[in-house]
Amino acid sequence: MGKRWVATIDLETLEVETDPTFKFKCVEDCGRCCRELEVPLRDEDIEEIEELGYNAWEFVDYDKAFYRGDKFIGYAIKKRPFDDACVFLDPETNKCRIYQHRPLACRLYPFVFIKHGKKMKIYVKMDSFCPGLNHPDGEPITKELLLREYGDIIEEYHAKVVNGSS
Ligand code: SF4
Repeated sequence: MGKRWVATIDLETLEVETDPTFKFKCVEDCGRCCRELEVPLRDEDIEEIEELGYNAWEFVDYDKAFYRGDKFIGYAIKKRPFDDACVFLDPETNKCRIYQHRPLACRLYPFVFIKHGKKMKIYVKMDSFCPGLNHPDGEPITKELLLREYGDIIEEYHAKVVNGSS
């Protein structure tokens, strides 16, 4: 599946340009992305989950590694053998057991953030299994939505650009 541009944030001024025709709503208890996707874990994700009392061997799949070009990104989150879902997806409630502490890749999905100089371009992965894409009750992508859901990430990049460290 391809990806589609939905927004650009100017990291200096925080002005946002969006595609007003796209809407999104994560469908409660759907959990399809928890089965369909392989999730990369950053070191920070592993540390945060370990702080909840889990051991890395319980949730890190050291046989699956992600690379960007020749750069190692991280290992994958473990899938359970009986239904190929993430080990943290509760099989009874279909909810994530570590939702408030989920890895960055899960937080971002279905969006992809790509920095180009002083601009952050946001794309959406048009995965056919995700019923939230252009959902009739979906919310358009606006500056308010981006700041509400991803304000900490945007602020981090904004600070780096304003301070000249990026
Ligand atoms: S597949 Fe889409 S709608 Fe379903 S849980 Fe994942 S993001 Fe939400």
